[in-house]
Amino acid sequence: MKQVPRARMRDYTTFRIGGPVRLMLFPETRRDVLRLPEIIAGAPFLVMTGGSNLVCTDADMDGVVVNMSRFQGTQLGPDVLAVRSGHRVADIMTLCLAQGIGNLSFLAGIPGCVGGMVCMNAGAFGDCLADWIAAVEYCALATGRLHKRYDVHSEFYYRGQTLLTSRDVVLTVLLRTRPGRREDIRRDMERARRYRRQHHPCQPSAGSVFKNPKPMGMSAGQLIERAGLKSMRRGGAQISPLHGNFIVNTGDASFADVRYLIDHARDTVLKAFGLLLEPEVKIVGGIEDFQRL
Ligand SMILES: Cc1cc2nc3c(=O)[nH]c(=O)nc-3n(C[C@H](O)[C@H](O)[C@H](O)COP(=O)(O)OP(=O)(O)OC[C@H]3O[C@@H](n4cnc5c(N)ncnc54)[C@H](O)[C@@H]3O)c2cc1C
Repeated sequence: MKQVPRARMRDYTTFRIGGPVRLMLFPETRRDVLRLPEIIAGAPFLVMTGGSNLVCTDADMDGVVVNMSRFQGTQLGPDVLAVRSGHRVADIMTLCLAQGIGNLSFLAGIPGCVGGMVCMNAGAFGDCLADWIAAVEYCALATGRLHKRYDVHSEFYYRGQTLLTSRDVVLTVLLRTRPGRREDIRRDMERARRYRRQHHPCQPSAGSVFKNPKPMGMSAGQLIERAGLKSMRRGGAQISPLHGNFIVNTGDASFADVRYLIDHARDTVLKAFGLLLEPEVKIVGGIEDFQRL
């Protein structure tokens, strides 16, 4: 198993922000995963895959990161697709197009991997992954035991779930599939990607900073824009001029810059509209957050 001492989180996250951790582990096989408790040996640890939803401190973190991005593989069955957690959304889209799978096109353009998608219940355009999950296989790193859970739909909610603890690592998800015509699938995926190109900034980010509040009168982005915060800068970080719910790294943003804008946007929206925005991004402010996420 690949092991990288003092791996810098900025090299493994789409935000390109984050300092070194004691050790980053890249399990590739089930056997590697089962060895993790022994290697971690009681140290604080954080599980990640694509790093597209993480905002990490620049400071040193004396803990272990389990990076599942090399744990890859797919298996296609009748009406089901088993995907390992390191598989990127883009690769799943290629497979769906090739195999005529028509019900997962809404995910096109999301930059993460399966592991984070399950944990976050990723979604777009009113659809979410949980609606298609038949089973989740995970390893509880506290005990080293493997679990496979079916009928988990009720344990997922908007951009989250109660199925996993921060000590569990997703290995594989079993997705229900529906056939589709290739030209329709291609069109749906292209439409989703085009929407993202037009409405989402292309600079490094971690996607939507806040969840959309309930009741869904206005989106988090609209609230931030109405509060006059669009384009606001702090150091190298900026609330995107294109989309109020994205904070982008314009080149040399620090964790403190981003943290300031997140807190400022939350406080300003609360004052202006009486709504407390909840972060969608996972903020790793220090080692104390390793087993909290
Ligand atoms: C430009 C951009 C656009 C985006 N658009 C969308 C969108 O439309 N919809 C959407 O839902 N999200 C969106 N995102 C956010 C992000 O891509 C998703 O949340 C994605 O599912 C995260 O996957 P990841 O593998 O990168 O997770 P990571 O960032 O690596 O981790 C996210 C969380 O999942 C946990 N985790 C990761 N892997 C595992 C694992 N194997 N086992 C257990 N826990 C794990 C981590 O501990 C962390 O809490 C966007 C992000 C960007 C940068």
